[in-house]
Amino acid sequence: APGVDPIRPSHALFDLFVTAESCRDVQKHFSALCEQLQVDPKDFRVFYSKLKERLNYWKAKDLWVKIDKRASDKDYQQRKACAENKCLVLGAGPCGLRAAVELALLGAQVLVVEKRASFSRNNVLHLWPYTVCDLRGLGAKKLYGRFCTGTLDHISIRQLQLILLKVALVLGVEVLTAVEFQGLEEPSGDKGWTAKLHPNPHPTLAFEFDVFISAGGGSFIPDGFKHKELRATLAIGITANFTNRHTVAEAHVEEIAGVAGIYNQKFFHDLLTQTGIDLENIVYYKDETHYFVMTAKKKSLLKKGVIKQDYSDAEQLLARENVDHDALWRYAYEAANFSTNRQLPELEFATNPAGRRDVAMFDFTCMHRAEHASLVRERRGKKLLMGLVGDSLVEPFWPQGTGIARGFLAAFDTAWMVRSWGLGVPYLQVLAERESIYQLLSQTNAGNTKNDCTSYSIRPSTRYPHVNLSAIKVHQVRLPPPPPEQSIRLPHVNVFPVLVPDSAGGVEDLLRWCQKNTAGYAGVEVKDFTLSWTSGLALCALIHHFRPQLIDMSSLNESDAVHNHQLAMDLLERELSISPVVAASAMASSGLIDKLSMVLYLTQVHDVLTKNKK
Ligand code: FAD
Repeated sequence: APGVDPIRPSHALFDLFVTAESCRDVQKHFSALCEQLQVDPKDFRVFYSKLKERLNYWKAKDLWVKIDKRASDKDYQQRKACAENKCLVLGAGPCGLRAAVELALLGAQVLVVEKRASFSRNNVLHLWPYTVCDLRGLGAKKLYGRFCTGTLDHISIRQLQLILLKVALVLGVEVLTAVEFQGLEEPSGDKGWTAKLHPNPHPTLAFEFDVFISAGGGSFIPDGFKHKELRATLAIGITANFTNRHTVAEAHVEEIAGVAGIYNQKFFHDLLTQTGIDLENIVYYKDETHYFVMTAKKKSLLKKGVIKQDYSDAEQLLARENVDHDALWRYAYEAANFSTNRQLPELEFATNPAGRRDVAMFDFTCMHRAEHASLVRERRGKKLLMGLVGDSLVEPFWPQGTGIARGFLAAFDTAWMVRSWGLGVPYLQVLAERESIYQLLSQTNAGNTKNDCTSYSIRPSTRYPHVNLSAIKVHQVRLPPPPPEQSIRLPHVNVFPVLVPDSAGGVEDLLRWCQKNTAGYAGVEVKDFTLSWTSGLALCALIHHFRPQLIDMSSLNESDAVHNHQLAMDLLERELSISPVVAASAMASSGLIDKLSMVLYLTQVHDVLTKNKK
């Protein structure tokens, strides 16, 4: 290759691999490196150790030290825990790749299939402290020098994918890009479970597997899994990326980690009066691009001509033909310019893979969560363990930055499930455990996971402070009624209640109901699903209104928020069998109340209290 040092070509090829900036280049330089060193990545069991042995280069050693440290965790059993397992991972998004790395560390043979040919998402993800710690531990800094420099805690989706792809390849994971998964093929004859792939990369010898991990993103639901819909009030998100030329002037512009209207009324008021743009919140991160994500109010989008016609149906409202793209660019441009005090010089849109300005508008109104995270299928005596990770399991609310953090937690939990499977734990128990852990996921936030992120591993107790691996019992895992496919076994638990009303009014009705039934209580004024609930008094008042005998309101102190929440949540759990969805300490902390979780929780409270009343 041009530019390769003839004396130490492998060193130069390793440098090219490490600095490669596209998925294609990563794969190309990786193949060249393997060829040069005469190591075969298909020989996955010994690939990493051979690579290490043959590439005697200090820069590579820095990376090996990191990976070896991670791999030395006793739960991987020296990469033998899953030595007999073969895993197919669908999707090379961040969560699919993160899961693939863990499966490889467990010793499994891992194949990742990705339908896209390139990694092209400029959008920037917020990283919780533990994800920064996790990625550093995998050598992210060695693979991408700018990783989380200074206090920055975010990264573009494509860079994150590149880092994880490099780690996965080094560990012997096979990654096929531009290959679409089109379904599972059931076992026949001697053949086990295989996948229908397009184009078919192994026409003669199909990859047989006993574990299938689906990480295909929010819209991908494999057969056998069910999603529940969460409807919030209409929320319209806009993302925009502008070229970052990395000049000094650009470096000086301050990022906006997230301002919401309730916290900075003046900013949003000025924005509205000066530009006609009305936002609920805005985030600005400086990364490979200048990245903005904002939630815009429908009325101002209509007024500014971004949305042509008003419809109550969100899909119709945001349909391509109902959006004026020039007006959308102007809207995003003005919002970006205003929120950075017009300090970003020569603001110019970055381009998306289609070569157009990188601006997108999407609907947050409706999000999905899988009802369960795992299942086992059996055909002709051959079992297949299936698991969901990432957006395919729980679609995140982007502005809250829960996507990658919860996505990685699920990748670890899934790896833990595969470990048990590999170690021969009875499969009903494997499923019951996985669902027990899944119940924790929606309650998880940066404040209620364990503090010491350096000890995080796939073992759930290293991450979740209160994890009960048998919260779901084996007898709760059973055939779904009626069995459309005799051999699907899935956990029969309703992890999430359905938040039905398909009219956008559902959530507003709930708010009105809360207001009506807490009116007149001292220190309580319900205006929303977040801040109004911080002191815990509102929740106590709601209980008191329906069950005055359960709570003595005069004994409560507004400033003792954790106590108030704990009391209310314990009562709701004990008296009405409503499980908490958020920890009391998180509820008591104004920044940590997750609106959707709160809506879910209060929906249950409403349903139970009004049903019992009747
Ligand atoms: P994804 O990153 O969505 O990856 C899924 C992968 O599976 C994709 O690469 C897809 O091509 C592949 N795939 C799907 N179906 C198949 C198939 N049949 N065969 C083979 N491969 C398949 N989050 C934020 O916090 N901020 C943002 O601004 C933001 N912007 C986003 C913009 C877009 C266009 C998308 C799709 C997502 C965005 N997200 C954003 C969400 C964020 O990317 C995810 O939370 C995060 O990437 C974790 O996702 P994942 O790995 O579960 O899935």
